[in-house]
Amino acid sequence: MTDKKQNVWDMTLERLNSMMDLLNLTPGIRKYLRQPRKILEVAVTVKMDSGDIDIFTGYRIQHNTNRGPGKGGIRYHPGVTCDEIKALALLMTLKCTVVGIPFGGAKGGIAVDPKKLSARELENMTRRYTFEIINNIGPDKDIPAPDVNTNPQVMAWIMDTYSINKGHAVLGVVTGKPLELGGSLGREYATSLGCVYTILSTLKVKGIDTPDLSVVVQGYGNAGYHCARILYDMGFRIIAVSDSQGAILNKKGLDPYKVLDHKNKTRTVKGYSGAQDILPEDLLTLPCDILIPAALENQIVKGNAPDIKAKIIAEAANAPTTPKAEKILLGNGVFIIPDMLCNAGGVTVSYFEWVQGNLSYFWSEREVKLKLRDIMDKAFYEVYKVAQDRKVDMRTAAGLLAVERVARAIKLRGIYP
Ligand code: NAD
Repeated sequence: MTDKKQNVWDMTLERLNSMMDLLNLTPGIRKYLRQPRKILEVAVTVKMDSGDIDIFTGYRIQHNTNRGPGKGGIRYHPGVTCDEIKALALLMTLKCTVVGIPFGGAKGGIAVDPKKLSARELENMTRRYTFEIINNIGPDKDIPAPDVNTNPQVMAWIMDTYSINKGHAVLGVVTGKPLELGGSLGREYATSLGCVYTILSTLKVKGIDTPDLSVVVQGYGNAGYHCARILYDMGFRIIAVSDSQGAILNKKGLDPYKVLDHKNKTRTVKGYSGAQDILPEDLLTLPCDILIPAALENQIVKGNAPDIKAKIIAEAANAPTTPKAEKILLGNGVFIIPDMLCNAGGVTVSYFEWVQGNLSYFWSEREVKLKLRDIMDKAFYEVYKVAQDRKVDMRTAAGLLAVERVARAIKLRGIYP
């Protein structure tokens, strides 16, 4: 079996186990961290436009809630499985802990291809899914957010369905909402801005002080587009980007705003006039300084890792690199900014949104950005220090920091009864 096909939950456990091996944890705590607290699987029954009904399988999983309510996105994708959601929920536990925000880890999703649904079917499905999981979510329990193929409109439907059932508007039930419904300024691009902050810190510790660096971005959705746009505005050269339909290259540099206009018109980056189309499988191995996987998990695998030429990989996506690929990359001297640190800007501004929504007191965009930078920089240097002190890679360092903090929280709270 290639590692591309390796079960993402098995891979996540493999990583967690090796982090726990380096810490002096009891067998009981190790078992506790391997096991999600709550797994909910629901049949989401939807009235389709045809007049018939269809049923989609949905999940909401809370991996750990010792440090605060569960937090994590909702994904609509045909590849969604219980194991995938479990893995992403565990990753959320670590991510929230690495950046020190008071949330546990959760994740949700529906196994569906949303592109095959009409707008009305998508809304019906979202509302029914919300109703099915309504007792498991809430501002003090578990707070969903957007992920692959979900957006502020989907969050608005979730907030509305939840609020109608509770009898009053509940702003804190989801984050990533539209601004008109208590969304936070800066949330839309927070994942990418946080990712860019970690790239800037990496350049600093490596003593690189020029922005004239070439960047390749896989995925041109929320995370990928905003990474490309923010780096372009800072003077970096975005030479190639891709989406699920294809990939484009211009060694002199692309204008991400124009690429987005093209994608909005044609639904893909492919065919953009200012670049040449290339094979999507060639994108990751292009010569470049910084590679940003911003699509799905298991993209950088044993098969393509030896050919990767980037010196820095910034994981905007969750779990884009398999453990086997990582070993090869680290052996080749590649600096990997791991997902649980690199893309934590999204959940950090989600935390800001939750705080603002619960208090109904909203901050300026400047305040959001300053607070985000503080948290991302602090987290980066804490992880970097562990990496230097313990002579481990950045993912292991981030994991050690997070696992130790969660284990401490479990011990402090104790086991009921
Ligand atoms: P999105 O749905 O907005 O975009 C996903 C993009 O990936 C789309 O452009 C899609 O066409 C592309 N894609 C899908 N399969 C591909 C493939 N095989 N090759 C190339 N491109 C492909 O989703 P998003 O919110 O940008 O999420 C992307 C990644 O970032 C996911 O791993 C997600 O978990 C992670 N992430 C997102 C956030 C957030 O706030 N949105 C936060 C943290 C992590």
